[in-house]
Amino acid sequence: MEENKVAIVTGATRGIGKKIAERFARENYNLVLNYVSENTDTNAIIDEFKEYGVQVLVYRADVSKFDECENLVKATIEKYGKIDVLVNNAGITKDGLIAMMKEDAFDKVIDINLKGTFNMTRNVVPYMMKKRSGNIINVSSVVGVAGNAGQSNYSASKAGIIGFTKSLAKELAARNIRVNAVAPGFIDTDMTNVLTDKVKENIYTQIPLKRMGEAKEVASAVYFLASEESSYITGQVINIDGGMVM
Ligand code: NAP
Repeated sequence: MEENKVAIVTGATRGIGKKIAERFARENYNLVLNYVSENTDTNAIIDEFKEYGVQVLVYRADVSKFDECENLVKATIEKYGKIDVLVNNAGITKDGLIAMMKEDAFDKVIDINLKGTFNMTRNVVPYMMKKRSGNIINVSSVVGVAGNAGQSNYSASKAGIIGFTKSLAKELAARNIRVNAVAPGFIDTDMTNVLTDKVKENIYTQIPLKRMGEAKEVASAVYFLASEESSYITGQVINIDGGMVM
C-alpha cells in the first residue's frame, strides 16, 4: 500500500481550514492541524478526525511567531518524517477606514496573514527541497485581487500573499515544488458571521451566483491544487467567489 502523504494546515480547527483538513483526511493524508486560541478543545478535534483513520497532530502555534512555526515544522518531521503539502490558511481581519485605522490593526493583520505565510513556508521549504517535491497552497482573498474599502490592511496582506506565491512558484519549480493560491470570495464562516444581514444582502447583489460560498467549496479547490490533477499548474490564483471578481 502507498504511504500516506502529510499535510500541514494552519488555522485548521474551524472555518475554511477545518474543511480543508477534513478533505485531506478523506484523501488519506496524515495531518498537522494548527490553531492558536488557548481555549481550543484539542481532544474534541482529535475525536472528530478519528472517523478518517489517519494520523492527526493538533499543534498550537501563533503563525506570526517565527520560532513557533519552526517548532511546529520540527514536530511534524519528528512525527511523520516528511511534509508533502503546506496550506497557509490562518488569517484574521481588523477592518476599518484608513483615516481611523490604528497602527496596531495594520501590523497585526500583516503579521498573521502575510508574515505568517512566510514564517511557515520558510520553515517547510528546506524539507521539500531536500526531497525534491512538495505543494504549497496559500489562502489569499478576492479583496487581495480587487481591493475593498475598509479593508486596506487585509487587502494588502492578501495581495502580498499573491506576490509571494508567484515569486516562490518561479523560484521552486526546478525543485518540483508547486506554489499556488486560492482567492475565496464571501464564504460562510465565523469571519463573515460578524456581518449584519443588511451588509450580507448588499454583498449578494455583487455575486453572480447570488449566495455565500461554503468552506467545503474552498477545500475542493485547495485539494485540487495539491493533487496530481493539477500537476501542470503553478503560480496561479484561483478565485472561488461565485463570479464576484472576473
Ligand atoms: P475563521 O473562521 O475566523 O478562522 C480563522 C482561523 O485562523 C482559525 O482557525 C484561527 O485559529 C486561525 N488563526 C488566526 N490567527 C492565527 C494565528 N496567529 N496563528 C495560527 N492560527 C491563527 O476564518 P475563515 O473564514 O475560516 O478564514 C480562513 C482563511 O480564509 C483566512 O486566511 C481568511 O483570510 C481567508 N478568507 C476567508 C474568507 C471568508 O469569507 N470567510 C474570504 C476570503 C479569504 P483559532 O481557531 O485557534 O482561533
